[in-house]
Amino acid sequence: MNSKEIKQIEKYAEEYNIPIMERSGLRFLIEYIKKHNIKNILEIGSAIGYTAINMALIDKDIHVTTIERDNERYFEALKNVKAFGLEKRITLVLADALNIELENKFDLIFIDAAKGQYINFFEKFSDNLKEEGSIITDNISFHGLVERPELIESKNLKQLVDKIKKYIEFLKSNDKYITKFYKIGDGISVSRKKDKDD
Ligand code: SAH
Ligand code: MG
Repeated sequence: MNSKEIKQIEKYAEEYNIPIMERSGLRFLIEYIKKHNIKNILEIGSAIGYTAINMALIDKDIHVTTIERDNERYFEALKNVKAFGLEKRITLVLADALNIELENKFDLIFIDAAKGQYINFFEKFSDNLKEEGSIITDNISFHGLVERPELIESKNLKQLVDKIKKYIEFLKSNDKYITKFYKIGDGISVSRKKDKDD
């Protein structure tokens, strides 16, 4: 179902260099959502709506709020969401995620926006996470460069990879959360709030 339309989004992403999630990472994300019966999702970084649509398609009770700061990508996402008839279950927000306040609480927060801002996204939106909720982050490995910094040539890229490393350290040393790291797709982390048994 819908696979032709999904492939069209993948093709568009390739053509216009939009960094959508790797298929294996997406499969992991989908399985996680099913396994934990997740219904309310906040995504930081919609791009053209690829992950938001894939998450919403899992189950008709799922609602995704997704934030994108780039005008062109936001409108492309809007178009794609409409093509799937998902406008009631995907709320697209055109904004810089660091400049908005959300009231709702979510079962899952999926962080997939500017890699240099990961700690800021995590800290800002952890207030919007339900007690039993999880925060999943994509691109924790950044094309393998986090593990192999010797491959990095440009200074900007090195700074970015250093920030991802700092984020990993931040997650490891965060005593309110337990984080697991997965070498799937471009590297994924899953952080869950500790409870009294942890
Ligand atoms: N989740 C998408 C891919 C997102 S790519 C998918 O896998 O299909 C990352 C996106 O985050 C980019 O489109 C970029 O414009 C957006 N972004 C980066 N920083 C942001 C911010 N501070 N607020 C909102 N969007 C941001
Ligand atoms: Mg990503």
